[in-house]
Amino acid sequence: MDRKVFDLIVAETNRQNQGLELIPSENYVSRQVLDTMGSVFTNKYSEGYPNFDGLDGDDDEIVASTGEDYRYYGGQQNVNVVERLAIGRARRLFHADHANVQPHSGAQANNAVYNAWLQPGDTVLGMNLGHGGHLTHGSPVTQSAKIYNFIAYGTNPETGDIDYDELERLAREHQPKIILVGYSAFMKVPDFDRVAKVGREVPGCLLMADMAHVAGLIAGGVHPNPLEHGFHVMTTTTHKTLRGPRGGLILSMGHVGSPLRKPEHTLENIPTLIDRSVFPGTQGGPLEHIIAAKAVAFYEALQPEFREYAANIVHNAKVLADALKERGFKLIGGGTENHLILINMIESYGVDGKKFERALDRIGLTLNANSIPNDTRKPFEPSGVRLGTPAITTRGLGETEMVQIADWMQKTAEVCAGKRDEAELEKMREEVRKLALRFPLPSEK
Ligand SMILES: *Cc1c(COP(=O)(O)O)cnc(C)c1O
Repeated sequence: MDRKVFDLIVAETNRQNQGLELIPSENYVSRQVLDTMGSVFTNKYSEGYPNFDGLDGDDDEIVASTGEDYRYYGGQQNVNVVERLAIGRARRLFHADHANVQPHSGAQANNAVYNAWLQPGDTVLGMNLGHGGHLTHGSPVTQSAKIYNFIAYGTNPETGDIDYDELERLAREHQPKIILVGYSAFMKVPDFDRVAKVGREVPGCLLMADMAHVAGLIAGGVHPNPLEHGFHVMTTTTHKTLRGPRGGLILSMGHVGSPLRKPEHTLENIPTLIDRSVFPGTQGGPLEHIIAAKAVAFYEALQPEFREYAANIVHNAKVLADALKERGFKLIGGGTENHLILINMIESYGVDGKKFERALDRIGLTLNANSIPNDTRKPFEPSGVRLGTPAITTRGLGETEMVQIADWMQKTAEVCAGKRDEAELEKMREEVRKLALRFPLPSEK
């Protein structure tokens, strides 16, 4: 037996148990999600798709349906049902006509959509990475930026909201084939109707929302669903607020046809164009152990408790944002409407984001240094830090603990600024550990 990796798993379990996770893209999965990822479904090859009939029904009807599948290997009787459950539940959760549950990650999901709809050289209008957009939305270091022509719209530094006038102007000027709304550091709720209206005026323009960060809030009913506001496609990760295994998911509206036949290149056929783009366009065999765990996570997200969880994420974020503001932290956009908080650390305490991140690591609070809009500092040592409440809300922390976290952050910032003794970090490390142990990980209870 490999003792080294075993020991590392034990050490990582202890690290997670004894600290508090404030990185907004992380979460803690349930025992069943964790176990399902480690199941024998990992042994199976299943290129292709299950059949797509009868997915409108409930779980029992989905299990009972016996259509011809679109697989290239035998032995699919269990894999087909598990993938159909994942698809059916994802459709129910997001009110979508179709779901592709095979993307290995959020980046893969985005690339598959680009590949489904675009030709090399086509234009995509997406959010500026420096203003909260994601690498996969056209950063020059990505593969997609070599293939497609990305144009960026920004946010208004005063309000922190999308500059909709700029977006509209750029759409008219560049006639993009995709308008993309999505972000990893944006604290407002987008006006999807307004963007959809702009998109409808551009011929052949696909409206795409990358909701990797807020999918759990959408599933929990505390954030609007872009598919109900005129968007054709929504991509997401399954491991952030959605609290499932690491992976990607593509939801779409339109006609669901056989993935074995190439359909006409129309917006109506986008579900099938995407299926063909995921496999064989951009991926090989699907990860059925992960797809099984996605099915479990979607089951959990369909339960009434998940709505409560989503509401608590947003409530905790508001309480934490207010407590931070009271302690002299300057927040981008003045606060938050979702689970994300972005702090301008230079303006708050004269400390850069990396230094603050490292100091917080020493007391057991994990977050990440992050650029702020129009940052003049290097990306590795940016002006800000980004944090969020999905993971700590899963562990059951509430208002009292949010204020406690803000207190620790203030004291740590003061240590960084040379206004407090460094020995205080040791004391705080013990306090964080004590509090964290009162709220065990869901998988370790
Ligand atoms: C996290 C994220 C992704 C990428 O997901 P990976 O699974 O890490 O590839 C894509 N888009 C947005 C907006 C994200 O926040």
